[in-house]
Amino acid sequence: MAFTEEQKLTDHLQHFIACQTISNEDLDKVDWREFTKLHALLEAYYPVIYKLFEVIPVGRAGLLFHYDSGHPEKTPLVLSAHQDVVEPGALELWKKEPFSGAYEDGIIWGRGTTDCKHLFLAEMEAVEAAFSDGFRPSYDLYIALGYSEEIYTISGEDGGRLLKEALAARGVHQIVLFDEGGSVTTDDKGHRIAHVGLGDKSQIVYELYKDGTGGHSSVPGLHTDMGALARCIVALEDHPRPYKLTDLSRGQLKGMAKLETGDKQRIFSDPDRYWDEVCELARQDARLDALLHTTICVTMAQGAQQPNVIPAHVSATISARVLPGETGDEILAYIQQHLTGGIQVRCVSGIDPVNEDTPDSEEFRLVEQTIHDVYGDDVIVMPELMLFATDSRYYKDIAKHIFLFSGYEQDDTWGPMHGVNERIPAAALPGSRNFFRRLMENYNA
Ligand SMILES: [Zn+2]
Repeated sequence: MAFTEEQKLTDHLQHFIACQTISNEDLDKVDWREFTKLHALLEAYYPVIYKLFEVIPVGRAGLLFHYDSGHPEKTPLVLSAHQDVVEPGALELWKKEPFSGAYEDGIIWGRGTTDCKHLFLAEMEAVEAAFSDGFRPSYDLYIALGYSEEIYTISGEDGGRLLKEALAARGVHQIVLFDEGGSVTTDDKGHRIAHVGLGDKSQIVYELYKDGTGGHSSVPGLHTDMGALARCIVALEDHPRPYKLTDLSRGQLKGMAKLETGDKQRIFSDPDRYWDEVCELARQDARLDALLHTTICVTMAQGAQQPNVIPAHVSATISARVLPGETGDEILAYIQQHLTGGIQVRCVSGIDPVNEDTPDSEEFRLVEQTIHDVYGDDVIVMPELMLFATDSRYYKDIAKHIFLFSGYEQDDTWGPMHGVNERIPAAALPGSRNFFRRLMENYNA
């Protein structure tokens, strides 16, 4: 009996999940054989791509596929995703083994099902099917698969950067790029919303620290370095970065107004005019808060290894999510202003956020049209600032536009990215494949 489309996509994703392509900050600890296994699957599943595209290995496990249209002057389309996944976490909490690719009652389980093996599945399947049917674009088409996205701020060598360099080395200086990001969701009032990322915040990691002499906890004196560190953490929480509007957050709030009624509709539809009320709402809503400023969040703290020791070194780690338009140096100086008691700060890792895009472009309208073609005219397409960052940042200096959108329609049967019991319903798989296929057809270079 022949497989249905959904069964075929399910089968392919199950096999991708079984490849344990786990990221590690230390690239020497990554089991690169798992990537080799994955590449063998790609070659077996997508013979037309392997025949018609040039396949360019990049770095340790990156793959760049290139279809040469003979029209390098047209703006190439790049479909991107990453092959690596995060650690499975607490194994005992998983209801199915995280790398089994288990399928039950219409659900595929496993690490990578939603971040983001489902994405390169959709991209590869769309291209394979289109080219099998004789589709040949008048523009160059690339598929770029990274391998270190989950550790991109830490690793010196980086798949995303090397893929960008490989494109640039081939003379590609302007692209339209799609990478992981938003999807189509339904809110509690029944609106279907396509969340299309046009920019993202950048994570920059800082360390607060102080070196002292340490000692015995029986003679601490009135103050300790740990106390000084705690005061600084409180001072930072008491002095958040000021809220501000950008073109993108303004556009996003106006989009959100369409989903609201009453006061919120009035406030979001003209955020400049009702700015004080926007700020008041943001103070009670963590997601709105994150949209409007750089957040400074202390996530780890360290002192002595034993209860009766006054530590000679205390430290706390900050995960800052920096708004486009601000820089890591600016945030470093801001943190410094709030430090007392000899506590110092240093930047550990991270790069400045890239500038955000505007929804006012022909290409954005094309994405909007494609979403309507595939998911229906009732879907509200919302330009958004993404609160997490992806490999797409590395492409910024050769990108005309970057769209952070997965092409999927998502519901509450999905399991969480990076969490235990990550999972995806098989019925969702054809939607994104259809989105990318339609996109290739609609795209005008
Ligand atoms: Zn991801």
